[in-house]
Amino acid sequence: MCFMIMKIKGLNFLILTAAMAHKSFQPIVLVHGGAGDIPDSRVSAKLDGVCRAARKGYEILQKTGSVLDGIVAAVELMEDEPAFNAGKGSVLTLEGNIEMEALICEGKNLKSGAVTLVKNIAHPISLARRVMVETPHAFLGGEAVNEFAARMGVPTVPDDYLFTSAAQAALDHFKQAKSIPSKMEIGEVGVGTVGSVAIDAAGHMASATSTGGITGKYNGRIGDTPLLGCGGYADDERGTVSTTGHGETIMRYNLAQRILADIASGKSAQEGTKDQCEGMTKRLNNTGGAITISSRGEVGVFFTSKRMAWAYQLGDELHYGIEHGQHLVDKV
Ligand code: ASP
Repeated sequence: MCFMIMKIKGLNFLILTAAMAHKSFQPIVLVHGGAGDIPDSRVSAKLDGVCRAARKGYEILQKTGSVLDGIVAAVELMEDEPAFNAGKGSVLTLEGNIEMEALICEGKNLKSGAVTLVKNIAHPISLARRVMVETPHAFLGGEAVNEFAARMGVPTVPDDYLFTSAAQAALDHFKQAKSIPSKMEIGEVGVGTVGSVAIDAAGHMASATSTGGITGKYNGRIGDTPLLGCGGYADDERGTVSTTGHGETIMRYNLAQRILADIASGKSAQEGTKDQCEGMTKRLNNTGGAITISSRGEVGVFFTSKRMAWAYQLGDELHYGIEHGQHLVDKV
């Protein structure tokens, strides 16, 4: 609570100015590069990608003051990186197609935009942002997304731009092994979904998640990523979350929303993230992970998969890790 002294007609008035009472937060852009059985051979590319994305997102947040600009910059960088399962490097459906999905949410007005079954677009996350900003809707899917992209002047990219030999190898492996699409990262060729959450100095928050889905999925399969409360959520009164892992499991469990409910009930960001990832795996026998920032400005990172790359910049420190219990800090 703040007080202000005002002089009116020679008299001093003590005025309570609740509106002026604001808390200040340390801005953070936190990112993940997907939960899964990430093989040793892919650890350094993942770490390098998440560290660059966290720094880029933080730089843009500091420059523009917009959490949305920060998370979109971070996610776009990872969509451009073939080391991740989003944009370029997306995994393939059983028929060998790329069908991408993305969700963006902002916590001040609870606005959101989502896209699914997107083809030939380099940055699905930017398209999701346009759905949020430019349409009366929160979710567009299928061919309509590409029609919308064309109306917005968003250029398409050829199939070759998005396809990678690693995604093809993952599909070949999937077919040989007669797998069911429940593991996010298969052998030496797996890749990962990307996500970012951020808070600005005023406590405004946002979340962004982008994915190619899971290797060997049916054409037309929609996962957790574009679904509110599953792939992500942001509410300035609770916190912001981006999730990754087996989509059918995450959507059945409502992972993002459960983490925020824990935070609302008083748990720290780390406790809520850990308890709900573990609870989901115990209950539904599939792995996942999440990154969280609470409305108190705390960071939460947890995963029940073998690995998940994550990173965030806080002032002049870069925090990052990929193994369980690993938390490295470098000066930037
Ligand atoms: N959750 C994503 C999906 O199932 C995959 C991932 O997070 O790696 O589509």
